[in-house]
Amino acid sequence: MQQVDFPNQAPPAVASAEPIIRAEKIEKYYAQPSQNRIQVISATDLSILPGEILALLGPSGSGKSTMLRMLSGLSTPTAGQVYWHQKPIAGAEINVSIVFQSFALFPWLTVLENVEAPLQARGVEPDERRARSMKMLDTVGLDGFEAAYPKELSGGMKQRVGFARALVVEPEVLFMDEPFSALDVLTAENLRSELLELWANKTMPTKAVFLVTHNIEEAVLLADRIVVLGRNPGHIRTDFRVQLPQPRDRKSEPFTQLVDYIYKVLTRPDVVPAQAPDQLAVPAVRDQRQMHYQMLPHARPGGVAGLLELLLDKGGRDDIYHLADDLAFEIDDLLPIVDAAQLLGFLTVEEGDAAITPSGTEFANSEILRQKELFRDAAVEHVLLLRQISRALEAKSDHTVPEDFFLDMLDEQFSEEECLHQMETAVTWGRYAELFDFDAGRRRFVLPDASEEDAVANTPPVAPSAPPGEEDSK
Ligand code: ADP
Ligand code: MG
Repeated sequence: MQQVDFPNQAPPAVASAEPIIRAEKIEKYYAQPSQNRIQVISATDLSILPGEILALLGPSGSGKSTMLRMLSGLSTPTAGQVYWHQKPIAGAEINVSIVFQSFALFPWLTVLENVEAPLQARGVEPDERRARSMKMLDTVGLDGFEAAYPKELSGGMKQRVGFARALVVEPEVLFMDEPFSALDVLTAENLRSELLELWANKTMPTKAVFLVTHNIEEAVLLADRIVVLGRNPGHIRTDFRVQLPQPRDRKSEPFTQLVDYIYKVLTRPDVVPAQAPDQLAVPAVRDQRQMHYQMLPHARPGGVAGLLELLLDKGGRDDIYHLADDLAFEIDDLLPIVDAAQLLGFLTVEEGDAAITPSGTEFANSEILRQKELFRDAAVEHVLLLRQISRALEAKSDHTVPEDFFLDMLDEQFSEEECLHQMETAVTWGRYAELFDFDAGRRRFVLPDASEEDAVANTPPVAPSAPPGEEDSK
């Protein structure tokens, strides 16, 4: 398996410590209505050690939440085993709590009652639970808000309640699933540093923190150790310690280098760079899974064109980290566009830089109609699914093929939801490239009619409107 626990050269002080939670070859499958099972996590080993803030980083859909649920005992792996202090977690008396992105407060309870709820569930006497909850509300800066209801609070305040409720039970491991993602930038930054302070001052008795995030900077800011997940199915791409001292400076050279390095890992689906920045020792991880279909990144052709034009404007090469910054994009927004441009051969990613290729340059310099042609050539050359759809349409005498034909092939590889996303993206790309059109009424791919070609070329790729049967009546 791809899991590597520690860098070879610089074993951390806690490496010999006994893990609090240890997952051994855990896998997760979800049943599909079509009876197929889809694998969401492939056999993975992962340990949570005392003294660490571990960040689990990965693009959305890579299985971060699924991992969190299995490690925290909320859900059972399909295969493999999770141990809590060496005992199978199912029968063990575990002490963990979870903070969710959505806050997950009880709207009908006051702030104080929300914080008391887990203590009540554990049978703590009323006086004690009140006292502990008041103290915890004080710690997270919510004194004076005991009697308020969640709906009266801002997002940041709600998440403070979320933290208070999680911490009041003095969990040994605190799990957090994108706890700052729903907050505005400043509020998120505030809460992050307050959390770090509580952790550093040992104000909370918690021994380890497991943080799920898709935000690279957040991971580098907070974590002692970062595990990067890849997807389809979820697997560990790299696992390393962050050696930067706290408090960390986002503008410092080692910080940006590390962010850059992680961008690099995330933008090269098949290759993990062997060399990390100096302060790290990152083991290379081989990705051995064979995929038939590429995962189409959910990017619009217009986004690809925009990125290439910006890149050309900047001399043809720029740091992805800077590009994201310039565009004020989050990783989840920019990566699919970079991936798409890379898949089409319009750019390459090296050393965390995006570099435009000759065909990318030609694309960026062309008029829209020529761009469509270049996109079409690149799509047919590089994207198996688009090539198959296009070939099938040419081969059939009626020039139409049902969507199901391709869905049946895709669903061996992707979840049902992802199959639909893949189809949606294929349709968007295919229409833009004028490779084919899609008749949503009949759920069939169709070849754009030769006589209609000009009309189609001038039609923006909007929702298909052809009513059923229209093709036949011509
Ligand atoms: P992440 O948290 O990284 O965004 P998740 O763990 O939520 O990813 O999901 C990983 C994959 O598993 C996704 O493709 C998602 O659609 C699928 N998935 C998650 N939960 C379920 C479920 N209960 N049933 C079926 N598929 C699921
Ligand atoms: Mg998630």
